[in-house]
Amino acid sequence: MGPQGSGKGTQARMLAEKFNLQLFETGSVLREIADQDTEIGRKIDDIINKKGQFVPWKLLKKVLDQKVSKFDKNKGIVFDGTPRRMEEIKYWENILPTLNRKIDYIFYVAISKEESVRRLSIRKLCKENGHPLIVGKDISEEDKKCPICGSEVYRREDDTPEKILNRLEWNEELLSPVIKYYKEKNMLIEVNGEQSVENVFGEIIKRIENHESRIINLYS
Ligand SMILES: [Zn+2]
Repeated sequence: MGPQGSGKGTQARMLAEKFNLQLFETGSVLREIADQDTEIGRKIDDIINKKGQFVPWKLLKKVLDQKVSKFDKNKGIVFDGTPRRMEEIKYWENILPTLNRKIDYIFYVAISKEESVRRLSIRKLCKENGHPLIVGKDISEEDKKCPICGSEVYRREDDTPEKILNRLEWNEELLSPVIKYYKEKNMLIEVNGEQSVENVFGEIIKRIENHESRIINLYS
């Protein structure tokens, strides 16, 4: 978990690669559906691409229900972008035991609101996978292709500082009870997201190797 711009998606991908896990990226799952010319696809497209908003829980639940049945039973999972609100915590706490799974680690990549705004203002996304690309670091202003997947890059219409700040505040309102919930249960491993990608990852790996906050029995 982490605020927008925290780089949590990159960390999730790196974790999946290092430990050979399947990656459940809520954002890319939603984008995939938004690309489809179906009723639910058009609805989600409007919410995430045109309005840049959160998908309401009722709609997201439908999507999750579909995806859960397709999990690879022989692999662990990294979740990115869920849970982001209290309903999702309940959802996973109900579903995971029925799949014979438990949560091992919950990471929170922390960055300040100012840093979040700064990073989002200079960010572009790629069309196919939504890879966040920082202008001046990952790509130049003129680059048209994503260096990771080669698809086209674009700047989101509503990525203006004012709109970004609005979104952040709104997201924070939803996320903060989630953070509080896991903190109180002593399950949250917070890492400093305001350092290089490699150092953030190093910190995550160290915390795993130390078996820090390993969640032994979430459901008791
Ligand atoms: Zn890409």
